Amino acid sequence: MLEEEKKEEPKNILDAVKELIPKEAELTKVEFEGPDIAIYVKNVSAIYGNENVIRNISTSVKKKLIVRSDTASLMDPEATVKKILEIVPLEAGVSPEGVRFIPEFNEVQIEAMKPGLVIGKHGSTLIRIVTETGWVPKVLRIPTMNSDVVKGVRQLLVKESEFRKKFLMTIGKKINLPIAKSEWIKATALGGFKEVGRSSMLLETPHSKILIDCGVSPEPAIKGLDAVTGDENKAFPYLDSANITINDLDAVVLTHAHMDHIGFVPYLFKFGYEGPVYCTPPTRDFAALLLYDYIKLVQRGGGSPLYDEKDIKKMLTHIITRDYREVTNVTDEIKLTYHNAGHILGSSLVHLHIGEGVYNIVHSGDMKYGFTRLLDQADIHYPRIDALFLESTYGGSRDISAPRQEAEFQLMELIKNVIDNKGKVLLPVLSVGRAQEIMLVLETYAANNPRYKLEVPIYLDGMILEASAIHTAYPEYLKEGLQHRILSNNSPFESEIFEIAKGERQEILERGPAVILASGGMLNGGTSLDYFRSMAEDEKNAIVFTSYTSVNSLGRKVLNGFKEIALPGEDGKMTPLNIRLQVRSIEGFSGHSDRRQLMNFLQSLRPGPKKVYTMHGEEQKCEDLARSIGAKFHIETRAPMNLDSIRFK
Ligand SMILES: [Zn+2]
Repeated sequence: MLEEEKKEEPKNILDAVKELIPKEAELTKVEFEGPDIAIYVKNVSAIYGNENVIRNISTSVKKKLIVRSDTASLMDPEATVKKILEIVPLEAGVSPEGVRFIPEFNEVQIEAMKPGLVIGKHGSTLIRIVTETGWVPKVLRIPTMNSDVVKGVRQLLVKESEFRKKFLMTIGKKINLPIAKSEWIKATALGGFKEVGRSSMLLETPHSKILIDCGVSPEPAIKGLDAVTGDENKAFPYLDSANITINDLDAVVLTHAHMDHIGFVPYLFKFGYEGPVYCTPPTRDFAALLLYDYIKLVQRGGGSPLYDEKDIKKMLTHIITRDYREVTNVTDEIKLTYHNAGHILGSSLVHLHIGEGVYNIVHSGDMKYGFTRLLDQADIHYPRIDALFLESTYGGSRDISAPRQEAEFQLMELIKNVIDNKGKVLLPVLSVGRAQEIMLVLETYAANNPRYKLEVPIYLDGMILEASAIHTAYPEYLKEGLQHRILSNNSPFESEIFEIAKGERQEILERGPAVILASGGMLNGGTSLDYFRSMAEDEKNAIVFTSYTSVNSLGRKVLNGFKEIALPGEDGKMTPLNIRLQVRSIEGFSGHSDRRQLMNFLQSLRPGPKKVYTMHGEEQKCEDLARSIGAKFHIETRAPMNLDSIRFK
């Protein structure tokens, strides 16, 4: 009876907020806005003048508080632009075109080369803008390299503001709907367990349903290539078996933007999903880049994509971004917090806190607990971990990669030898993450050691350039030294050692020795496959894999020493290709932890987990890692398979 009554009564967080607002602010409206609370006041200076007010209210109601002016107190837009340009120092790099108004949120978006100067010391410049114009400024960094994706996503979100407003209010009400205490908590493996690809896990209570990641298998459905690359039945997560309809889902939570974690999300929208997708801001932009490209890639391969551009757009307008360590209610009983995973820009381990202290789950996504040139290593501090889902890509007992320095040296020597022998080096890389890591290595060695000043062009082809540009929009997610270089106009991604291939592939191939970074780490179609096809038969050339290759990928076959492979030619007919070039794999560049790093991560985690479930690895690796963790740390471990459910409570 009591529970029933509780259910019908709306939660009075909004009333609680109302009471905490100082009278002189003259509150006109309080409302839910997604997971946050927005208040509108006539006198913003009463709040912005006193930083503690916002902090106190946020802490007291455990929600992020957004303070905005009442519409009646907004300055006219034209006068506002003038005012902003007057207040903001010239060096900030703000232009009138970079100032956009979003009346639905009484916000003004300000794009700046140097956002810090628009924010000012302790936010002083921001406060001046809001108190003098009424508009709440939202400062966005202009990437140092042109990025069509960043531009496109920002434009789309401004254009869809009216929809966003409605969407966030609806979601906000839903999130704050009080629910009775859940009697059980369980997780179901929908994809990416005892395999790499189509990662997806459903977390359920009687009242909440959260999907963590929703990817496709690495093999895109390219016609003709299917013959060599694998099984279409294993391409997507087992959503149909989960006994839920798409709109039962309360949220989709993404760990990072690789296709095996995000590739199936637009499909949910195609089939009617209307809820939120949570991720970090870089993950959103990379998702846009990779998903649009995926459609093109499949079409080019003669297949038909699972979804189209409008489904991707729909997904983008349903994204709610969160930075690391921001605690967010995704339903009334589940709080989500992202932590740095060190795998790619914006990648996260997900901490889910269920009930008030009832259960805590950490899902690793893909993570790196080790040195990279791009990112800090994965975060090891969490409030509590009852169950940890841990990736096992390199979880096998023999998966000990070479020390990083050695790997870099091997790569540079190999490149040097091939170039000296007048050959070309093909580096097939994942365009998001590995490409930038390798670029940093090439750039550092060229700058510091005359031996590795290669004197030949290093071409970047495919999505690498755009992916690098997105990195420059979010330097705060990068390692400090690198962040500093980007902010001081010395970005390694724009180094003169790199040349951008603009559709002249044939010419590049006909020219002399070169290093080619091409997107597509497993040779499954796309740019790297194009180059491979033309380079494979010349023994002076070399291909060097620095990324994971999945079991059925063409890349793995090449690595396994196949001497002849049939590939679909331009006319669609299968044509044999003789593989004579040098084939090498150098493991130390991985964005995944190797076996030793996984064990170190567990050893260092504070607090340690009570149970560990392995995932995202080939079968033996998941099993081996689970067994070894159990033996070493004396905790319960398991390597679930797809469709297994685990009950936590
Ligand atoms: Zn990944």
